[in-house]
Amino acid sequence: MVLSLCQNLNLMAKYPAIFLDRDGTIIEDNDYINNTLDIVFFPYTFKALKLLQKHFLLFVITNQSGISKGLISESEVQEVNKYITEYLKTKGITIFDTFYCPHSNEDNCTCKKPRPYFLFKAAQLYNVDLTKSFIIGDHPSDVECGINAGVTPIYLLSGHGRKHLDELLYNSRICNNLSDASGFILSTIK
Ligand SMILES: [Mg+2]
Ligand SMILES: [Zn+2]
Repeated sequence: MVLSLCQNLNLMAKYPAIFLDRDGTIIEDNDYINNTLDIVFFPYTFKALKLLQKHFLLFVITNQSGISKGLISESEVQEVNKYITEYLKTKGITIFDTFYCPHSNEDNCTCKKPRPYFLFKAAQLYNVDLTKSFIIGDHPSDVECGINAGVTPIYLLSGHGRKHLDELLYNSRICNNLSDASGFILSTIK
């Protein structure tokens, strides 16, 4: 009886999440990565994600327009994503799911950031409380995606962040990198 009550409560619980951009956020932005050899994790990524996963479910949400443009194949992107998840697993870090948009702007799809599609999808699939969640990325579209989903955005100056800083249209906390962002997020929940 007690157990089933706990299980029910657990099912009803809503979990806060961190929606991580991939390129320029957890790994270096090496343009259209089609090969696991080109994956370069930032040195601080592992510690930052380990700290964050104590309080948040971790997801990766990435725009991969190189697929639509014919520069990389969908299976290459899947392979790279899989490698990232598996490598993080060896470091004790669990990525609950990875979502990628294969489209370019011309496709006018429903899923490319800044559209909130994948955040809503993750919320539905994994019982995420978006109001207690964060999105972290190095592009203004990451911030806009967070605003569109009711998720707190954090803009990073790593990756392409510095280059696109003057295109940032929405109010957002700005952090140097994922390490600083994790420090800030953890300070808000203590
Ligand atoms: Mg990025
Ligand atoms: Zn899309």
